[in-house]
Amino acid sequence: MKIICVGRNYIDHATELNNPIPSVPIFFLKPETALLRKNKPFFYPDFSKNIHFEVELVYRICRVGKNISERFAHRYYDAVGIGIDFTARDLQEQCKTNGLPWEIAKAFDNSAPIGNKFLDISEIDKNNISFKLVKNGNIVQQGNSSDMIFNIDQIISYVSKFVMLKIGDLIFSGTPAGVGSIEIGDILKAYINEELLLTTKIL
Ligand code: ZN
Repeated sequence: MKIICVGRNYIDHATELNNPIPSVPIFFLKPETALLRKNKPFFYPDFSKNIHFEVELVYRICRVGKNISERFAHRYYDAVGIGIDFTARDLQEQCKTNGLPWEIAKAFDNSAPIGNKFLDISEIDKNNISFKLVKNGNIVQQGNSSDMIFNIDQIISYVSKFVMLKIGDLIFSGTPAGVGSIEIGDILKAYINEELLLTTKIL
C-alpha cells in the first residue's frame, strides 16, 4: 500500500506557511513504513530539531482505479479516519530552499500515525466532517472537510491521472491552520466529530 498526502489544501494553512494557494492539488507520497498504528508512541528522531504535527482527514481507498473521473470518485473510498502527517519542518525548509524533494522531511519511519478506527463514509455527512487535534489538553488545530480547497473527489481524480490507486491505499487530505512543533512528553489526541480516534505520546 501507499500513502498519498495532499499539501496546502486549506487556505489558512497555506498562508500561515507563506505558500501560494495551489491551482491543482499538490501531493507527495509516504511509504508503508511511515505508518504508526495502535496508538503507539512516536519516538522523536535525532535528525530533526523541529518536528511539526499536521492533523488530517485520511480517506481509505476501496477499489483499484486510474484516470478516475470526479463524478465517479466517490466509488473509490469507503471510510474516513484521522491521521497526523509528522513533518521535519527544518529539513523541509532546507529542501524547499534548495529545490529538492521532500522525502527526508515527510516520509521517515512512523511519520504517519493513523487512528485505530475508520468511520464508514456512508454513515456520515462527508461534506461536513469536523476534526481536531488536542495537544496536552489544549485544542491546537480544528478543521472541517467543507474548508478543503480540493475535496476528496477532486483529489482522487487528479492523483489517479498519475498514480494508480489500489485497495488499502490511504489519502491524507491536508491540514488546517495551527501546525506546530512537538516536544518529548507531549500527548496528541485526534478526533473526528468529537470522537477520539487517535492518541500518541511523544517519547
Ligand atoms: Zn500534511
